[in-house]
Amino acid sequence: MVLTELGSSLANALAKINRAPKIDDKILQILIADIERALLGADVSTKLVEKLKGNIREKLRLSELPAGVDVKRVIEKVECAQYKVAIQTKKQKGITVIKEITSLLDSERVAYVPRRGKSNVIMFVGLQGSGKTTTCTKLGYYYRVRGWKVGLVCCDTFRAGAFDQLEQNAIKAKIHFYGDRVETDPVKIALEGVKRFKEKKFEIIIVDTSGRHKQEESLFEEMEMIAHAVKPDDTILVVDSTNGQQLEAQAEAFRKRVDVASVIVTKLDGHAKGGGALSAVAATKAPIVFIGVGEHFNELQKFDTQRFVNRILG
Ligand code: GDP
Repeated sequence: MVLTELGSSLANALAKINRAPKIDDKILQILIADIERALLGADVSTKLVEKLKGNIREKLRLSELPAGVDVKRVIEKVECAQYKVAIQTKKQKGITVIKEITSLLDSERVAYVPRRGKSNVIMFVGLQGSGKTTTCTKLGYYYRVRGWKVGLVCCDTFRAGAFDQLEQNAIKAKIHFYGDRVETDPVKIALEGVKRFKEKKFEIIIVDTSGRHKQEESLFEEMEMIAHAVKPDDTILVVDSTNGQQLEAQAEAFRKRVDVASVIVTKLDGHAKGGGALSAVAATKAPIVFIGVGEHFNELQKFDTQRFVNRILG
C-alpha cells in the first residue's frame, strides 16, 4: 500500500508525522486527533472511535519506551510486528491505523455462500426506504447473470405498491417472481412462494419482507414469523448509508429479533461515507457482503474492506 491509496485525511495526518523532526507523544496526539476527526466526519460512532483510539494508543505507548530509543523505528517495528511486513518504509506508516479500522469490520461470522444444486433461501430485512426491495432485485440479478436459477418472493403486504415494484423489477431483471395481490398474510405468501420455487429446484430464493419507517413491534413480529416459517439459510439486513449514526440502534434492534447473518449497505454512490455501517457490523457481528452504488440492478458490488476503510478516512 502506498500513501496515495489512503484516504486524504489520513494521508495528511501521516504527512505531518513524516515532516515532524521528532516523533513524540504530542505529534501522536495530533495524528490521533486527525484520525478521530476523519472518522467522526464519516459517521463512525463515537463509541467505536474511542475504542479505536484506545487500540492505537495501546500499540504505540511511547512514554514507556526507554530513553534514547529511536521512536520512528519503534513505530515501524510495531507496524512490522503486527503486519509481518519485512521492509517498512515511511510511505507505509498508515497501515497500523488502517488495520485497526479494518479490524472493526471483522465480524464473528463467515458470510453465507450459496451452494449450487440446492435451494438457498435468502431473506431480506430492513427499514422502509433502506433500499431493500431494490437490493433484492440486484442480488437476484447478480446471481441470474452468473447462471443461477433465481426466484423472488414478495411478502410485503404492508406498503402499497410493493408488489408492483418488485414484479416490475423482476420482469426487467428477467427473474422469476411470486406474489399475491389478494392474500394479506405475508407468512402464507412466503411459505407458498418458497415452496413453489423449491419444487421447481430454484437455487436462489429471495424473500423480500416488508419494512416500516421505524423499528416497530409489528414489523419485528412479522419478520420473526416469516423467518420461522421459511427457515432462511441467510438473513440479510439492508442498511442505508445515509442513516449514519442511527445504524447502530437500527442494526441492534434487528439482531435482537432475527438471526442477521449478513449486511448490505446501500446508497454508497452518494455523499455518505458509510462509517455508520461499522456500528451495524459491531452490533450484528455479521459481515458486510455487498454494497449498493446506484439505483440500477447492476449497481451492486462485492464488499471490499480496504476500499471501504479508505473511503471512511478519505
Ligand atoms: P425499501 O423501502 O427498503 O424496499 O426501499 P426501495 O428499494 O424502494 O428503495 C428506496 C429508494 O432508494 C429507491 O428510490 C431506490 O431506487 C433507492 N436506492 C436503493 N438502493 C440504492 C443505492 O444503492 N443507491 C441509490 N442512489 N439509491 C438507491
